[in-house]
Amino acid sequence: MCIFCKIIQGEIPSYKIYEDENTLAILDISQATIGHTLVLPKKHYENILEIPTNEYLNVMNTVQKITKKEKETLLVQGFNILNNCNEIAGQTIMHFHIHILPRYENDDLKIQFKNHEKDYDLKKIQEAILK
Ligand code: 5GP
Ligand code: ZN
Repeated sequence: MCIFCKIIQGEIPSYKIYEDENTLAILDISQATIGHTLVLPKKHYENILEIPTNEYLNVMNTVQKITKKEKETLLVQGFNILNNCNEIAGQTIMHFHIHILPRYENDDLKIQFKNHEKDYDLKKIQEAILK
């Protein structure tokens, strides 16, 4: 059983923020910023490619609830909402989850897109995606 399934079963303790029939939101054990929360489906799906659309929407519904709650209670100024899909993208726990990363002035979180300076052929990229 994966670590998040163990948390859902109550075999491993966690700090719960929200729970409903289909989803669970817990504090990330390693707080990238204060309030860093993980939202997971209670059923095990590996990633965004595997999770059925209705379950995905349940998760995103909970994500939005948490952002609204944290905006009020933590005086958050903004958020990054993040999903890592597969090891190459940094996924370490193979149970689909969304990171909610509250943003504060002077926090030290860096999320960078590094290749903006390169001159890509957008038409070719569009064709490659749509073929
Ligand atoms: P990933 O890298 O798969 O997108 O994110 C996994 C996240 O799970 C990491 O941010 C990591 O800190 C968090 N994590 C790992 N083990 C535990 C745990 O036992 N409890 C909680 N609450 N978070 C965990
Ligand atoms: Zn699992």
